Amino acid sequence: AERSFVLLKPDAVRRGLVGALLSRFEAKGLRIVALELRQVTGELADEHYAEHVNRNFYPPLRTFITSGPSIALVVEGDQAIEVVRGLNGATDGRKAAPGTIRGDYSLSNRENLVHGSDSPESAAREIKLWFPELSD
Ligand code: ATP
Repeated sequence: AERSFVLLKPDAVRRGLVGALLSRFEAKGLRIVALELRQVTGELADEHYAEHVNRNFYPPLRTFITSGPSIALVVEGDQAIEVVRGLNGATDGRKAAPGTIRGDYSLSNRENLVHGSDSPESAAREIKLWFPELSD
């Protein structure tokens, strides 16, 4: 089975949506194989978002992602990467389809509640970064 890295961002924790969001992944049939409450540091943010560090939107994203605790987790299941991205919905909560996490709960392009790995390569990289004990 495939694994994906998921981050419930600080807005999810702040808004008390952790249970509701975890329930969606569980109800879908994904298995939680690791989970931890994490205060993301600027250094970890820079590594996680390495492909975005030079983008205009990165400084406010860095401030946001380090603004309070997040929930980091790894889920496992058939085609977990694509399934998680489907559950999350489009990046911009204003455009995300109803029925998706962002479509149902977010009205923002930045504070969009959740992150999911976008490819097998990113999943491997992110799982190693966030949960080194899970990688061989
Ligand atoms: P994620 O990687 O968090 O799952 P994504 O793959 O849908 O989201 P990316 O394009 O990888 O989106 O952007 C990573 C994150 O950066 C987004 O989730 C969002 O929080 C933020 N972001 C992306 N584009 C913008 C933007 N134009 N303005 C503000 N924030 C943005």
